[in-house]
Amino acid sequence: MVKVGVIGLQGDVSEHIEASRRALENLGVSGEVIWLRKPGQLEGISAIIIPGGESTTISRLMVKNGLFEPIKELGEKGLPIMGTCAGLIMLSKEVTGATPEQRFLKLLDVRVNRNAYGRQVDSFEAPIKLAFSDEPFPGVFIRAPRIVELLNDKVKPIAWLGDRVVGVEAGNVIGLEFHPELTDDTRVHEYLLEKAI
Ligand code: GLN
Repeated sequence: MVKVGVIGLQGDVSEHIEASRRALENLGVSGEVIWLRKPGQLEGISAIIIPGGESTTISRLMVKNGLFEPIKELGEKGLPIMGTCAGLIMLSKEVTGATPEQRFLKLLDVRVNRNAYGRQVDSFEAPIKLAFSDEPFPGVFIRAPRIVELLNDKVKPIAWLGDRVVGVEAGNVIGLEFHPELTDDTRVHEYLLEKAI
């Protein structure tokens, strides 16, 4: 039985929980999706999602609740982990525009620029091309970070806005600038959960 944990400290947690439940249903897999707040809940975990929200707050609360180090270790050992928007920032190795207290899991060898889209376009929707599906995906961007550099060839692009990379994966780890949890399209969640089945 699959156990999916959505880090539930700040951000759009319930949307990811809902999307993950629907994705499991669509895949025909039985499992539970939990609101992950404490290290004790990591027992038997199959996949983790770090939601969008405010990355300084998520970083601070992950450290305070004792989730930062165990999740870093699980990610290094190959547990499927996906971060969206602020979650992408949390996963990245290098971040420009971060606050001094922010810590990063450094599970994804990319450099991102926080709040990079600028005011006039800080939130928008646009169709995304996915590496694993022929149909366009509705991309929702909200004060998104921008992936500015893939730091080595272990990192593969999996999503594009025009010719710009807006989503990547490195083995078990997925990072997206946009918010699949804010659409009713579960293809991206299914892609993550297939790594956990
Ligand atoms: N701008 C936010 C941050 O830097 C991320 C925005 C989001 O997750 N929607 O933390």
